Amino acid sequence: MVVMKFGGTSVTDRSAIERLIAIVRAQRQADAQQEGGDARGPVVVVSALAGVTDRLLGIAAEAGAGDTEGARNNLRELRQRHIDVSHVVTDVTHRAHVVEFLNHELDELERIVHALGVLREVSPRWLDALAAAGEILSSRIVAAALSSHGLMAAWIDARRAIVTDAEHTVAAPLLPETTAALMRHVDPPLAAGRLPVIGGFVGATTAGVTTTLGRGGSDYSAAIVGSCLGAAEIQIWTDVDGMLTADPRIVAEPWVVPHLSFAEASELAYFGAKVLHPSTILPAVARNIPVRILNSQRPQAKGTLITSERPASDRPLTAIASKKQVTVVDITSSRMLMAHGFLRRLFEVFERHRTPVDVVTTSEVSVSVTVDDRRRLAAIVQTLSEFAEVACEDEMAIVCAVGEGLRRDPTLVGEVLLGVGDVPLRMVSQAASRRNVTFVIREGSLPTVLGRLHARFFDEGRATTATEARRQPSGATATAERP
Ligand code: ASP
Ligand code: MG
Repeated sequence: MVVMKFGGTSVTDRSAIERLIAIVRAQRQADAQQEGGDARGPVVVVSALAGVTDRLLGIAAEAGAGDTEGARNNLRELRQRHIDVSHVVTDVTHRAHVVEFLNHELDELERIVHALGVLREVSPRWLDALAAAGEILSSRIVAAALSSHGLMAAWIDARRAIVTDAEHTVAAPLLPETTAALMRHVDPPLAAGRLPVIGGFVGATTAGVTTTLGRGGSDYSAAIVGSCLGAAEIQIWTDVDGMLTADPRIVAEPWVVPHLSFAEASELAYFGAKVLHPSTILPAVARNIPVRILNSQRPQAKGTLITSERPASDRPLTAIASKKQVTVVDITSSRMLMAHGFLRRLFEVFERHRTPVDVVTTSEVSVSVTVDDRRRLAAIVQTLSEFAEVACEDEMAIVCAVGEGLRRDPTLVGEVLLGVGDVPLRMVSQAASRRNVTFVIREGSLPTVLGRLHARFFDEGRATTATEARRQPSGATATAERP
């Protein structure tokens, strides 16, 4: 059985949901062909329609500030948007039921908003009650839409099927309880040949109080459902072709990485791989369930597969990530020589100023670190200056070459650095995982360096995905920029 998760842009309007239906139908047909009469599923997990969660959180804020009128207006628009989208349910009776459900849920939201407006306070618990509505509504529409298009679905209320702790807005699933609940609610429809449809992001405590799993939590839901039910594969349907070999804004022809190990995906995540946050698919990876990233607007594209281990490929590197607008801080002190406790003292300064440090390199008497949050840099420099010489250099960039190949071939690091050519390297680091080599250069050199490395490690004998990516370079980039 396969779990198919569709993100906000893949359910955002009538035509998106029609594409979803075609994709689910194709999966069901493929399963039937492979497994004959025993084919089950897929299980469908959906996000809220694009932008709806933000809207709901905005409504909560308005209500909490006493702007009940503004909150009501926004709710009215949300109601209308969902009713409009429900036209995707072609069967008249089905649609009437859906509209009744939408109205019922939105009436309830209005009552909550009214109460919060009176109290002028929104607790995390009530924030969750509001935020969860997006997925409850979208999943109900999608379930009815599938059924009215001949794919008999069963709507599953996530508040019954995903059991969590009571950490509102960032709840964690209780896996034994969730497995039991999924067996109770999802297994019977599956066995009866129906397609369970469940809203992501949402759960409830053992006492039945609605919770949410944190922003972007629908991927997490899909991983939980997949791992508790022992899925064969989890598909994350989004609006990009997958992970790219480099930032398409800098490199002319990056292509979609066909296969990543989970560890590689995690190394890339810091650089803003926007497709998914690796920690959200941990439950799947822990159970060795492959996760596939696919584009619902181009379902024929192969996408990116993430597995816990990856078979050796003939390509030495997997991707090159990069990050601009980084500052290097050099800290030098002869007191560091053969002393202990110096590094602790140094890092405590960054900790006290709540500033994350990214790349770190050290020698006997000096340490260089990079930071991308400059807000508290002046204070940090002042404190550090009490016991060391400090110099800062901004407009720097981090380049991070990632690949399991780096573990296998110890000469590869040298080859990567050679590939940089005559561009000065400011810091070089290879950490314990040995899946990446990271270095810092001047930001202005980034196009040259990425261009050289991409040409050397990726441009020959491109995979077929290369041609696809070139036609529409819409993959998620392995690069982050500050907002
Ligand atoms: N709708 C939720 C959010 O926007 C969850 C998700 O889309 O994954 O954060
Ligand atoms: Mg969303």
